[in-house]
Amino acid sequence: MVAKKEDTVSFLKTHGLAGTAIRKQVLSHLWGDGVALTQKEIEEKLPPETDRVTLYRTLKLFTEKGIVHKIVLDGETQKYKIAGRFRKSDHAHFYCTQCHKLLCMPQLDVNLSHLPSGFQFSSARLVVEGVCDNCSTKKER
Ligand SMILES: [Zn+2]
Ligand SMILES: [Zn+2]
Repeated sequence: MVAKKEDTVSFLKTHGLAGTAIRKQVLSHLWGDGVALTQKEIEEKLPPETDRVTLYRTLKLFTEKGIVHKIVLDGETQKYKIAGRFRKSDHAHFYCTQCHKLLCMPQLDVNLSHLPSGFQFSSARLVVEGVCDNCSTKKER
């Protein structure tokens, strides 16, 4: 699903950002529930003349503004996804190993106050892997 141009412009506006060409392009590729892409995957979808540094800055800005979540899958893979209604990214994410969707799962409550005494929490990167509802129902049929 690709967002309409007008949608991306008004979306950027609600976050106090001007709708530059690259911002609109990046947004439209990330649009859609569960869609998550690495910086490289986004780069491959953009016009070849796109400046890599501009893309990097755009993603950084989107992350700071809470527009996207940067989700660390492993040491090498970081994916970006539209944050939707979840502003913070300190919640768990669910990664479907079949369709590669990445979903926000704030309902998976990881109780960080159960740390042993003397330990302090600074950030959490919890990714739960498995099969999403869509893929699990497909299997049963
Ligand atoms: Zn799936
Ligand atoms: Zn999230």
